[in-house]
Amino acid sequence: ASVLDLAAIRADFPILDETLNGQPLIYLDSGATAQKPRVVLDAEIDFLTRNNSAVHRGAHTLAAEATELFEDARATVAGFVGAAPDDLVWTSGATAAINLVAYAIGNATAGRGAPASARFALAPGDEIVVTEAEHHANLIPWQELAARTGAVIRAIRVHDNATLDLAHAASVISERTRIVAFTHVSNVSGIVSPVAELVALARAVGALTVLDACQSAPHLPVDFAELGVDLAAFSGHKLLGPYGIGALYGRSEILEALPPFLTGGSMITDVTIDSAEYLPAPLKFEAGTQPVSQAVGLAAAVRYLEGLDMGAVHAREQDLGNRMIAGLREIPGVRVLGDAEGVERVGLASFDVTGVHAHDVGQFLDARGIAVRVGHHCAKPLHRRLGLTASVRASASVFTTDDDITALLEGVAAVRDYFGADE
Ligand code: PMP
Repeated sequence: ASVLDLAAIRADFPILDETLNGQPLIYLDSGATAQKPRVVLDAEIDFLTRNNSAVHRGAHTLAAEATELFEDARATVAGFVGAAPDDLVWTSGATAAINLVAYAIGNATAGRGAPASARFALAPGDEIVVTEAEHHANLIPWQELAARTGAVIRAIRVHDNATLDLAHAASVISERTRIVAFTHVSNVSGIVSPVAELVALARAVGALTVLDACQSAPHLPVDFAELGVDLAAFSGHKLLGPYGIGALYGRSEILEALPPFLTGGSMITDVTIDSAEYLPAPLKFEAGTQPVSQAVGLAAAVRYLEGLDMGAVHAREQDLGNRMIAGLREIPGVRVLGDAEGVERVGLASFDVTGVHAHDVGQFLDARGIAVRVGHHCAKPLHRRLGLTASVRASASVFTTDDDITALLEGVAAVRDYFGADE
């Protein structure tokens, strides 16, 4: 794989010229939201300046150009994740994408949709399997679906080192399982899930697989078709792209059979006062005016990443993640969440500093110009499982330097002295 030219990459990100508390910004919070390279900002401004118009309607040239850019963006982003353009539905983000699936399955359960939709209907006692490591966005929509249908939630346990317990997965996934929803990369440990194993277990019982690719798509080569998942969700703002855009991927026969969630304009072929016929996917799932400039911006983001080579990005960021974990391990009183050997990971690590609250650690680092995330990172069940209420999370991006990691480690090493924490 090619080697990243860090100086050139850093020059592409305008925010790196900013200071934080009078110090050069060390941004280690890309897991929450990524910084945007100038090409993304320019793509949005350019679209809004020169091409802005309503897509999929209007006979004028500007509308046709905007529609072309919008659909080109779909093809670009779909290609980035190994999907055909029609297998990619725009949403406002991963949360919206997962809710779309959960509500569509609820609609199928209520008897809505084409005859083929009946395959998704849930019956009381049917099981929806998640993992203990899920972000709330890939948990609560399933809880709500379970509450509406009488289905039951079951969770695959994690080991003490936050890796998934595959033996437990094999016992939890059964003939009663209808959906298996799990994260590709944990937003707490940064560990890559054993997707092939989970997909095999789900397929063996005919269950639908839903992958949360929020923390994988920005950091490693992702090919949903190759992974064999039925559905997958990711967010643009974590992928160096704009806010308010994300996507749901679905295998074409799944999207074809799934009933819509949101309904309204732009998703129909015919409407009478008491009935409507829907367009095929993906437009069936895109009711209302879409985030067009954001789609164009996201396409610019994935082109930027493709230009760097996702294999090289992954190699570099995995190295940063390993450096972070190795360094954190050395610091007395620091516990790494997901301290597992020999696993594939991204450049993200969460940790606890004995005797110092995560928020204090965050403030201490902030004073040194280092931006990290503190709290439960929308993964309360995993924190509870690991015996914590909060942790500190550092997450790298394509522009993160070795010096950034050294500054983080020096900062964390100084924290306990500063707060006078005892062993
Ligand atoms: N899943 C994971 C693993 C995440 O990290 C996030 C964002 N923190 C989400 C889902 C939700 O993404 P969004 O808020 O962009 O919808």
